Amino acid sequence: MPTSTAAAPSICCYCGVGCGVLVEPLKNGDVAVVGNPAYPVNKGALCSKGLNLQYTVNDRSERLLYPQMRYSKNHPLQRVSWDEALQRTAAVFKTFIEQYGPNSVAFYASGQCLTEEYYVINKLIKGFIGSNNIDTNSRLCMSSAVVGYKMALGEDSVPVCFDDIELADCFLVTGANPAWCHPILWRRVEAHKAAHPETKIIVIDPRATDTCALADVHLQLIPGTDVVLNQALGRALIERGDIDLAFIEQHAEGYEAYREVVFERTLAESAQLCGVPEADIRLAASYIGSAQAFLSMWTMGLNQSAVGVDKNLSLLNLHLITGQIGRPGAGPLSLTGQPNAMGGREVGGLSNLLPAHRNLANPAHRAEVQQFWGSGPLAATPGYTATEMFEALEDGRLKAIWIICTNPLTSLPNVRQAEAALAKAKYVVVQEVSTKPETLAYADVVLPAAAWAEKEGTMTNSERRISYLPRVVSAPGEALPDAEIICRFARAMGFRGFDFPNMEAIYLEHIRLTAGTSLDSTGLNYSILRARGSVQWPYRTSQAEPDTARLFTDQQFYTPSHRAVIHPVTAAFRSEAPDEDFPFILTTGRIRDQWHTMTKTGRVSKLTKHIPQAFMELHPQDAAALNVAESDLVVVQSRRGEVRIAARLSAGIRPGVVFLPMHWGKVLGSDLNRANNVTSGALDPLSKEPDFKYCAVQVVKYQKP
Ligand code: SF4
Repeated sequence: MPTSTAAAPSICCYCGVGCGVLVEPLKNGDVAVVGNPAYPVNKGALCSKGLNLQYTVNDRSERLLYPQMRYSKNHPLQRVSWDEALQRTAAVFKTFIEQYGPNSVAFYASGQCLTEEYYVINKLIKGFIGSNNIDTNSRLCMSSAVVGYKMALGEDSVPVCFDDIELADCFLVTGANPAWCHPILWRRVEAHKAAHPETKIIVIDPRATDTCALADVHLQLIPGTDVVLNQALGRALIERGDIDLAFIEQHAEGYEAYREVVFERTLAESAQLCGVPEADIRLAASYIGSAQAFLSMWTMGLNQSAVGVDKNLSLLNLHLITGQIGRPGAGPLSLTGQPNAMGGREVGGLSNLLPAHRNLANPAHRAEVQQFWGSGPLAATPGYTATEMFEALEDGRLKAIWIICTNPLTSLPNVRQAEAALAKAKYVVVQEVSTKPETLAYADVVLPAAAWAEKEGTMTNSERRISYLPRVVSAPGEALPDAEIICRFARAMGFRGFDFPNMEAIYLEHIRLTAGTSLDSTGLNYSILRARGSVQWPYRTSQAEPDTARLFTDQQFYTPSHRAVIHPVTAAFRSEAPDEDFPFILTTGRIRDQWHTMTKTGRVSKLTKHIPQAFMELHPQDAAALNVAESDLVVVQSRRGEVRIAARLSAGIRPGVVFLPMHWGKVLGSDLNRANNVTSGALDPLSKEPDFKYCAVQVVKYQKP
């Protein structure tokens, strides 16, 4: 039943652009959704996914409605009460913790969780269970950017805001296809370019995507050579004299070492390594060097790599040597894939983070959080990251895993190994909205969760913009908000500090914990968020205080010296190189109208029309050599598994490279077309982000047995 009748402002629950919507409860319990014209990010516009947002609530045919449990691994799931499910789970967790220690249990959550949900999960495991074993699918998405920001700027802080788009005169879009994956933001870039045709747009991508339609120059690099290319751009900028020596001298360190490294290779050598014309590198450098305001945008092409941190640092270096940061229109803008990946980072919801950008390795920071929570000591050692959790399940170090709002058996790399690991787990809890995720087959306990618009809370988008999401309709059956489920469980475990009277009480506790930190938002509450529509962190109570739409306007960075750090990264290669047996480079990515593992978008006919079936993209030249025609069935093999899928020929992809969309899996019936059957388990050593954009595969035409 509706809980209110007027259309309520909320936020789209798909990508990190975080568009504003108005959600109207209808008499039949459904909702109607339109873009919110008053919201600054999108001013009423929505992309294809946002325009079909209502189906995430209105289609209740595939919803989990009540808690279920199996009494032993071989028994079917049976309906139980919330009390029984949570009491039994608490008993199992207590037993494991007593017998094997706190690191024998873990939570694996999602960048789609609300900030309040992240907060209580983090508080429970770090403060009261005494382990740092919380990670989320943000590890697969933004963790390389997090490490890059910390190393270069001192903290994980996006310095710019979306309004910088209309102020920039040069864009570098690298490892991203915002025309498909962040469409509303890209429409702002398109409109800006239309109004100011002199604006330059550089796109770096091994594929000619729709984003390239707007490019003044497209650097179609060989996958994995991003660092070489960024360093070549750095060298070209230095050669042109287009660097800001005054900024470097006063506000940065590391330039001399950087200069040495980038001059180790000529531009001609770099061009050859990257597979792009030297003239295009020089042209792109001339655009950056001539810019009054240079804005870069990136996503998974840089982050999802065994050298993801190096890629991020090499991009940030371009801003630091040119002084293009901390002023209108200038700076790095990492585009988060998920709607609240930023909120999760604020509360420290990863296995190596603490709330409000505190440092896990710092004993004083751990003590501060412990005292605030009134908890036991916080563990100093980082917990398992996403893929490490599944390795620990496989070898028995981890006994129990609680999976919340994510579908790892489609989204993890080398997913056959993750399946085997989950099959070996002693105890699996799946807290979920939908009946579709593959994880349910392995669950000992299934907990039904409320969906978007059925629960209240907050989210933070890619530009640090915090917004309030109201509960507009009731959840079906016995489904509960995720934060309430976690708090009930914490109380069943006998822990204090989880008896919040409402969702805002959780938010206010999180805000109190930001006091004195770089994201200090003291004074912020739901009333202010409702009244103002949104605010950016750090929140300022008074209009007289400096605007925080943009960080580092005083060029004071969060490092101990207050200088930004230019890191002289070398172009390490840590991926699985192609060879005679596996001669192609596989890269993976998204398509325009699908979302993650398709649990929300896979059955919306208006969205499936765009690209109805899974495919593998390859260059016509490679197709001819393999005797493969358009739509032929091919088998993509790696050392880990195979995918059987239709071929799609495209002159827009580099020869020698093939592309698989990451969305398909058992949710739509089959795991034969699941890209992660073949992807590699290689990780960036610092961010622990997987190498989804590079592994070696063979492609053969499918022959009927
Ligand atoms: Fe939703 Fe992102 Fe589309 Fe905006 S751009 S409507 S946030 S999916």
